[in-house]
Amino acid sequence: MEQINQRLGLATWSSVWQGRNRALAKNGAITVALCWLVAVALTLTQPSVGYADWPYRAQAGPFLVAADAPVEGLDSLAEELLQLSERMQNDLAIPLRIERIRLYLFHDRELFEAFLLQNMPQLTPRDINRQGLFVLRGNTPVIVAMTGPELRRTLRHEFVHAVLNPSLPQLPLWLDEGLAMYYEVPDGSGWQERLADYLAQAARTGWQPDLARLESLTRMQQMGLAEYAEAWSWTFLLMRGGPEYRERLRSYLVELRRGSKPRPLSERWTGSATSPEKSWLVFYGWSTAPTRPRFWSALRQWWNR
Ligand SMILES: [Zn+2]
Repeated sequence: MEQINQRLGLATWSSVWQGRNRALAKNGAITVALCWLVAVALTLTQPSVGYADWPYRAQAGPFLVAADAPVEGLDSLAEELLQLSERMQNDLAIPLRIERIRLYLFHDRELFEAFLLQNMPQLTPRDINRQGLFVLRGNTPVIVAMTGPELRRTLRHEFVHAVLNPSLPQLPLWLDEGLAMYYEVPDGSGWQERLADYLAQAARTGWQPDLARLESLTRMQQMGLAEYAEAWSWTFLLMRGGPEYRERLRSYLVELRRGSKPRPLSERWTGSATSPEKSWLVFYGWSTAPTRPRFWSALRQWWNR
């Protein structure tokens, strides 16, 4: 037993020492990198200022790219995203404006967060605890993202925002996020298994969808996981529920693009003899389990009386 303890003690000490050495080496690297970052910060929309200082610069499709280190495969990603914009245009039946997009890519998480905070001091820790972010600065779409295995999905998501927002400035927050989540799925199905599981579970424990409530949300801070999941599910229903659903979405977007203030989608269910929430429940079949037995037992009681 003692031997084991000693061995553990030694291992712990040596790992601490190695960790300290690693930390020292890393801190040196971070100091240098942060100095560079200070020099290139606050340049989100002005390529002439600081752009040349970035370690890696490239142009790919609609993207003007700046990164902290070289990034592979940008041309094929840009090609994929241009095809995605064509698909969106067909699906949504509105012309979309593809502006030149400023794309900032980071391999280093600390640099990514420091860059976001320096350029957008209003961001909260929750805002930067993510893989990517989209902002519209004037008319210039800006995407800031981490590289890594999720890059493709992150870029698909943020690219949808970058294409929709200049074309539809009045797009409601829930639909903006719903469409981004629908189109981010690389296989093109729009199906988000994790969010579907979450909603099925929530519905089983009594949660009910409420489109009008979702439509009333105007700030990112009001959108938690439940709101994101619900926004995706309404979007998926509108895109995949059948021709009448997609037509409902298209006519809404056309009016939105004209600059008029269209009736919200929750009020466009008239004539279908059902509410949006009933359509949702029928489409997904995620019923509220606790109420169902209650319903049947009430029915039995009524039958037996
Ligand atoms: Zn988003």
